[in-house]
Amino acid sequence: MQKNTLLLFDIDGTLMTSGGAGEHALKVGFREEFGIEDDLRNVEIAGRTDSGIARQMLAYHNIEVNPETLERFYQGYLRNLIRELPNRTGTLLPGVETLLNELYARSHVALGLLTGNLERGARLKLTHYGVAHFFPFGAFADDHHDRNALGEFAQQRATALHGVRFDPARTTIIGDTPHDVSCARAIGARVLAVATGAFSADALEKCNPDAVLENLSDLGSALNALNESSAV
Ligand SMILES: [Mg+2]
Repeated sequence: MQKNTLLLFDIDGTLMTSGGAGEHALKVGFREEFGIEDDLRNVEIAGRTDSGIARQMLAYHNIEVNPETLERFYQGYLRNLIRELPNRTGTLLPGVETLLNELYARSHVALGLLTGNLERGARLKLTHYGVAHFFPFGAFADDHHDRNALGEFAQQRATALHGVRFDPARTTIIGDTPHDVSCARAIGARVLAVATGAFSADALEKCNPDAVLENLSDLGSALNALNESSAV
């Protein structure tokens, strides 16, 4: 069957939590590369892109933002992420594995990523938690530092891989922050917001997503929120 439904998942707070590995890697990588301690207190992280975070931190410390400093930032982060992931009690969030298995088996569904992670960081995290194979493509922080620009990259890659243009009305972004809601709206897509990250269901509700769930543990509710029938 030709694919006609595009589902784009955020990673942190939506599919998994890295148990603090990501933030630790940001701090230690920044210290190693630039010799500066930053406790991240002045940095907005949830829902932001790694390239946006890099720009914020470099600018805050009066370091010029250029391809060389950005790549040093990324290398420091990724090196420490590799080290730190196995040391943390991160986990897939409730119901994620069951839902992904169910969606992956549906021949009309295309699964992808829309994440603020660098592609290399996304692959490290998803491989560590055993779900990388569900996601053959995605849009990442490498594509743009503004999350609202990432939807178009995801759409282009979905079309390149599956040979069809996905109707925005049949495209849903699944994420855990108000930024996931706005980046979906930027391409006219639907949004399922999940309260498994830093934002409560009430806070997410205020951003007017198409659906809000406390978590993805109930398969029927998750499918319903994605406009997928429970029985296929
Ligand atoms: Mg997130």
